[in-house]
Amino acid sequence: MENCKYCRANIEDCVDEGLKCSMCQSHVHIRCLNRGAVPGGLNGDIFFTFTCQECSDSKTETFVRDKLSWLQVIVLVLYHLNTKSPGLARKGFFHWRFHIATFIDKNWEILFTKYVKKKKSWTGTVAGTLSHFSVYFFLSGTSVFKEQAWWTLKYPKISPFLITKIYNALMAEKVKSKADKQIISDIEIFNRLLKANVSDEEMLKPFILSETESTPSTPEISSDVIDILPSPSQIRKNTKEKDNKDLTKRKSILPTMDNKKLLKISSSSDSLSDDFTARCLNQSEPLEEQQLENILKHRKLEEKKETVKLLDPYCHFNTSLNNISRMKGVSMKIKLLGGIRKDLILSPYSGIYLKPYIRRDAECFPHWLKIMAEIQLVTNKSNPKYTLPARGPLDYTYVQPEHIPAINCLCNQFFWPGIDLTESLQYPDFSCVVMYRKLIVGFAFLVPNVSHTESYLSFIFTRPGWRNVGIAKFMLYHLIQTSLGKDIILHVSINNPALFLYQKFGFKVEKVVLDFYDKYFRDNIKESKNAFYCRLER
Ligand SMILES: [Zn+2]
Ligand SMILES: [Zn+2]
Repeated sequence: MENCKYCRANIEDCVDEGLKCSMCQSHVHIRCLNRGAVPGGLNGDIFFTFTCQECSDSKTETFVRDKLSWLQVIVLVLYHLNTKSPGLARKGFFHWRFHIATFIDKNWEILFTKYVKKKKSWTGTVAGTLSHFSVYFFLSGTSVFKEQAWWTLKYPKISPFLITKIYNALMAEKVKSKADKQIISDIEIFNRLLKANVSDEEMLKPFILSETESTPSTPEISSDVIDILPSPSQIRKNTKEKDNKDLTKRKSILPTMDNKKLLKISSSSDSLSDDFTARCLNQSEPLEEQQLENILKHRKLEEKKETVKLLDPYCHFNTSLNNISRMKGVSMKIKLLGGIRKDLILSPYSGIYLKPYIRRDAECFPHWLKIMAEIQLVTNKSNPKYTLPARGPLDYTYVQPEHIPAINCLCNQFFWPGIDLTESLQYPDFSCVVMYRKLIVGFAFLVPNVSHTESYLSFIFTRPGWRNVGIAKFMLYHLIQTSLGKDIILHVSINNPALFLYQKFGFKVEKVVLDFYDKYFRDNIKESKNAFYCRLER
């Protein structure tokens, strides 16, 4: 059995296969990687040529994507969806187009690298691969749904790496048995290889039809979060390092307040590679010639790329104030309340059906509810039979049209006038709205695709009285999960304590943008108009 080069603990076959360094041949757990996850963060994805920190010339881990077959890609996607987004599935099955092909489309560069262009008929290849390998690896849901579109993994617990190994062995055996003129069926060879390669009986358990269709799923945040984030000891180590780094960064940034220094891009010219960063810079200060050239060059490159529609990161910031006049006639009730739907929500952005609930939390007991309970107890002191009415759960949902007036109202009150979140209905996958009964207590929005490699976190908010109980933390966690393979960028006022939450999730301050909020904030607001520009690298 192999040991992990970084933590020295065992690497268990099938459970946590590690990446093998191409130089020293040692293995490293995915969770032990310095960057916390493989590029793209797909579960079970170890299909990289990896060089460990010690062996790499640059002293940082390097990953080069291996060439993946369509079988590997589809197994990877199903394995990832199955373990990370089981809630999307219908009775455990995923739709070949809406789930599988959409996922591949969104993560194309992660799976195939940007050098591999999509062929016109690639979605047909997805369907073809699924049915071709249904003898061995895929299970069709046709008999369950009376519709030929739903698929899942036959052995959902066997990792993509092991499936690849078994498949390669199968091909070799087939050639051999043909040469030896043995009369043995492929499926017999396959079953033999399956038993030989998978020692754990538990893994060989085939797919079991799940009856839980469209019941609200209640994922446990704790276990999930640990899954995608580094282990706790790793976090401690990282935050220590991070804190130190950030401190020195901030030290060098803040006291000098030298404009030129501040706005120089911290990392490298790479961060200029997109339109959005370029625009940010444009707003803040005249560019040096070299930088301008870079931007123009990159813009041309971007234009040549396929025309994926990019979104405006500030699309919700709309300061026209039209929205305010529109809000005037709206009743108090509508301004406060939003409804909860019980049926699936079709996302216009991804074509995926979203569940009505992201999570339901019955444990959470925010301060506001504690105070309300106390008031009720005090006012009913004289009634010995009085018992408190049952407390409702907190529901995490995707944004719906009926939420918008209340959310706009809260934004106008707590951020600045003129904000309009209507646009977010175009991509509800990247939203999270938290309700207590019909009261909106928090929300968070991500604008996907602001460049080919970035999403933008536009707003995250929890009502006062409902803070410090993990609501924002879960919303942020949810949004990070929805934007796999893309960097997330955001602005945060330099004296806003939310920065600590972002840093916990691995966001790093890249620069300070002076007067970023100048055109938005009213003058009496306490928060600084200067913003940190932060990035979560994926
Ligand atoms: Zn390890
Ligand atoms: Zn090495």
